[in-house]
Parts: sequence; structure tokens; C-alpha cells
Amino acid sequence: MTAGRFAPSPSGDLHLGNLRTALLAWLFARTSGRTFVLRVDDLDRVRPGAEERQLDDLRALGLTWDGPVVHQSERVALYDAAIDRLRDRGLVYKCFCTRREILEAASAPHAPQGAYPGTCRDLTAAERAERIAAGRPPALRLRSDAHSFTVHDLLHGEFTGVVDDLVLRRNDGTPAYNLAVVVDDADQGIDQVVRGDDLLSSAPRQAFLASILGLSAPTYAHVPLALGPDGRRLAKRDGAVTLADQRSLGRTPAEVVTLLARSLGLASEGESVSAEDLRARFDPTRLPRDPWVVGAEVTAGRAHP
Ligand code: GLU
Repeated sequence: MTAGRFAPSPSGDLHLGNLRTALLAWLFARTSGRTFVLRVDDLDRVRPGAEERQLDDLRALGLTWDGPVVHQSERVALYDAAIDRLRDRGLVYKCFCTRREILEAASAPHAPQGAYPGTCRDLTAAERAERIAAGRPPALRLRSDAHSFTVHDLLHGEFTGVVDDLVLRRNDGTPAYNLAVVVDDADQGIDQVVRGDDLLSSAPRQAFLASILGLSAPTYAHVPLALGPDGRRLAKRDGAVTLADQRSLGRTPAEVVTLLARSLGLASEGESVSAEDLRARFDPTRLPRDPWVVGAEVTAGRAHP
């Protein structure tokens, strides 16, 4: 079985940009013979009630998924097992660095941008003991032998990005995002990852980690984000950005689907479409490559979508 997915973090309500990404992930999966799974990335940033509202919104737009909703918080044993496998191969080390120390070291000349400089990679046993005695809880990092990795993205082509000694488990004990996503995607049979292009720079790290774990990397499609009129990422400050907000402007979920479809060039003016209708029209090669600038006619008042 091959699958695509949508994997929101339940940190708040989905806004129009998130809903558009979900619609695209659904279309990519449904038009390529894949199943579509819903995973809640709830290892951190959980806001009570957000998951229920997110799932309700997806249902209201007609984005159906297959099988039960999967929660990362219930899968920690899987992440631990992956870390154990890496540890057995000598590929894990303890890192005691604070965020500040990393930022300082990473801004040194010659450090690859955004990469962990390897400060704790070769600590002696005595140095490690000293840091433990000082009460600093360690994170776990991957001992990586690569500095960059290339992924193939359906919209961005070959994309090469930084790979470093990425965090596997944070110093509060939480499995790191990159590890959890890689383990889950492989375990769930997900071979197509469609998500916002703010995560494009994470893809090389994730694909590299997959390769180290002996897993194949998925096909990626990092899709353009939605921006507010000021060119910043769409956010609450921009007005009616959630489905609930849109409803209070008098727009129905069906009208919101139509609005999203219009933004993707999949519906023409005056036409009303459902998610289901879009399956026959969807052509991944003709997707807009630029961000969707969401204007005030969408977020500030009742207007024809
Ligand atoms: N849960 C992540 C987010 O909402 C997305 C994870 C992913 O798509 O890889 O930002």
C-alpha cells in the first residue's frame, strides 16, 4: 500500500493556507492511486480542542481519509526503537549545548548555515560526566557523515540542503520532529509527502535520516504558502483566516472549497466546485508556483469567492 498524508500539528486552528495544503495533499494522493492518511503530530504544541476542530474542518471541506487518525504521541516506542538501532551502530551521541551556544557556534565563520557545529560530538567521558554532574539534560544527536543531501521534489526539482548532526531526541525527552516524521512516514507506507514549502529545507535532513535507517525517502511536493496582503505568512492578524471565521462572514465550507480551487486555478469565476469535482481537474504540473496572496476580499468581508 502506498499513501499520501496530511499531518497537522494541533497547535491551533487551520487557516486558509493550511486548508489549501490539505486539499492539495488529498488531491495528490487521491489522483495517484494512493490512500490518504491523517496523522496528528502531537508531540508538542498541543492546544486543547484544536485537533477536533482541525478534523471537523477537513471533513466539512470533503477531505476524507482512510483508516483511523494516527497520533504521534501514541507511537513513542517506535521512535525509541529507531534511536536504539542507531545507538547500536554508534551513531548517537549526547549533546549538552544550549540553544544559545549552538547559535553562537553556528554563526562562526566557515560554519555551514543553520548546521550544528558538532560541539559535543567528541566529548571525552570526563567532559560528559562533568556536564551531567552540572545537571544539564542532554539531547541525543545523530553522528552524521554527510554535510548535504539531495531530494527530488515535484515542484522544486532537485533540491540540495544542509545535513548535520540532527537532533533525535530533545533534551526534554521528546522525540525530535525530523525523526518522528521519518519513522512514521515509513511505518505508515507513506511514499508521498505534500506539505508547505516552509518545510522544504527539512526534507534533505529527513531523507538522509531515512537512508541511514534503511528506509526509502518519499516523493516530495512542497507547495506554496498563503501570505497576507503584507507579504508575511497568513496569520490571525490578517482577519477571517479560519473556516470558522469564514463561516461567520457567511461563507459556507462549499464556498471555501471553491475559493481554494480558484486560488489553484482549478475553478473559474462564478463556478461552484466540490473537492470531489477537483479530482478530475487536478494536474500537478500546472500548480501555481508562487505563494497565494490572500486579499481583503477574502478575509474582510462577504464577497463572491
Ligand atoms: N506537523 C508538521 C506541521 O504541521 C508537518 C509535518 C510534515 O508535514 O512533515 O508543521
